Amino acid sequence: MTTTFDIATVLDGRKRDRVELIDILWEVQRGAGYLDAGVAEQIAEWLGLSVGDVLETATFYHFFHTEPSGRYRIYLSNNVVAKMRGYDAVHEALERATGTRVGGPGSADFGLFETACIGLSDHEPAMLIDGVVFADLTPESVTEIVDALKSGRSPAQIANPAAIPTQDVAYVEALTRTAVHTSGPVFFTGETDHAALVGRCRDTDPEDVIATITESGLRGRGGAGFPTGNKWKFCRAAAGDEKYIICNADEGEPGTFKDRVLLTNSPKDVFAGMAIAAHAVGAHTGILYLRAEYAYLQDYLERQLTELRTDGALGEGFDIRIQLGAGAYICGDESALIESCEGKRGTPRLKPPFPVQHGFLGMPTVVNNVETFAAASRIMAEGAAWFAAMGVPGSTGTRLLSVAGDCAAPGIYEVQWGIGLAEVLDLVGAQDPRAVQISGPSGEMLSVAADADRKLAYDDLSCNGSFMVFNRDRDLLDIVADFMQFFVDESCGICVPCRAGNVQLREKVGLVVAGRATRTDIDDMVTWGGIVAHTSRCGLGATSPNPILTTLKKFPEIYEARLRSQNDGDLLSSFDEVAELTGYARAVAELAPQETL
Ligand code: SF4
Repeated sequence: MTTTFDIATVLDGRKRDRVELIDILWEVQRGAGYLDAGVAEQIAEWLGLSVGDVLETATFYHFFHTEPSGRYRIYLSNNVVAKMRGYDAVHEALERATGTRVGGPGSADFGLFETACIGLSDHEPAMLIDGVVFADLTPESVTEIVDALKSGRSPAQIANPAAIPTQDVAYVEALTRTAVHTSGPVFFTGETDHAALVGRCRDTDPEDVIATITESGLRGRGGAGFPTGNKWKFCRAAAGDEKYIICNADEGEPGTFKDRVLLTNSPKDVFAGMAIAAHAVGAHTGILYLRAEYAYLQDYLERQLTELRTDGALGEGFDIRIQLGAGAYICGDESALIESCEGKRGTPRLKPPFPVQHGFLGMPTVVNNVETFAAASRIMAEGAAWFAAMGVPGSTGTRLLSVAGDCAAPGIYEVQWGIGLAEVLDLVGAQDPRAVQISGPSGEMLSVAADADRKLAYDDLSCNGSFMVFNRDRDLLDIVADFMQFFVDESCGICVPCRAGNVQLREKVGLVVAGRATRTDIDDMVTWGGIVAHTSRCGLGATSPNPILTTLKKFPEIYEARLRSQNDGDLLSSFDEVAELTGYARAVAELAPQETL
């Protein structure tokens, strides 16, 4: 440890319960700077765990550090939209201003890191410094920010010079500035009296609440589209001494930021939805799992919870706490999220059993997404028929799109299910669009030419809210390579097809980009992609080959144009003599000492 921070004072205020572990790690890291073995030992002793248990959790998450990594930790978003908006120049300026390298050892003052997406695709390039967000970066602005840090100003003082209280919505808006272009009738209406709504629902038979949600046709907005009424019904029917409601606010899919905006503009719709779900299933405890990238929302959200308690919507009988994550895309998977809530690594569980049967602490648990809970509260306010009258059969109501990329007006759009792809592109002012990545890297690369007539609906384009537009100047293969690297970085590593297969697929894409791939490499990508998709444990592995497989289907010409045979007439193989021989020489050198043992 490099400071005199007293860990005992943190631990004294905490329960001796493993579910506290991530909160403890955050608090200790804030005070001590990082989490070394000595810290892990004290925490382990307090919680009755092994040091290995503590370090296993601490090393899993991007935002925890087990060694010194600078007084200010800067995380630069490196997603594809950032790269379309000047990321390289910002990256270079950041390194120059701090005198350190991204991903390098850092200095006493600065640690520079890349991170996949911080939920600001409408304002890239963007970065986080110690949890404070900075958007619309330029080389000049990052230089000014670093200079201000060097002069002794804190990230909070730089980002919020007016010193707006962090509990105020004005503070969040000053940092993020997201435009909501179309809204209503479901979201952002500000029409609901939340205390009255929750009170009315509590006076309603829980079975009737579930029946209303079922009749509305509401399906989960996180991506899978499971009928919400059925999820609540199964949880209600499941045996358990306790039941839990968890709101998944871990929207880590690159390109999506709608849940952040809902939590900013309509947080009480979300919390009321959780309270209504709790009444429906018989739960007393709710958890909002807030991704660490959105930590700057926490004070504001705590104030909303306090107001709801004052109004009687929360508190007696059911209350909600906020669990801050620590940086792991996989925690968007509901079972990984539950593991994380229990203070563990975010490793997806084998299913069945499903969370509605065996969830948080082994008890029946409803996990729904932010948008789903907000929609549920609006349905209970306005009625099932009102909601079911919107959209199309099987996909009722509206949904939120986070729009980014090559368009005139990035931001949030509320649209009715059933809207066509071409109509959305018109709405957002798409500029010479060639492709749309729908649902983030795990989704599908659509061809504007071939898919313009397709509809947003669960049985056609089941969009999870991420909508990235790419024009004709973009190199789609670079985007595919970027997405595959994302999956390599974010795989939890528990199963081999995902852990190793995605590395292989990423390398194959690299061959194509470099003009060294042959048709055999393409065939391998299809075969291996199928294996990864069908043998991986969770949704990350199941969808990770999608960037390759969907572009091979929709844009085969981008692969054809770079095949080695197209470049030099050599159909033999992608064998790179220099690279392979260099690798062989390195392997021999590494083996040599062992052979002499
Ligand atoms: Fe982990 Fe990937 Fe397996 Fe999912 S598929 S459990 S992310 S290794």
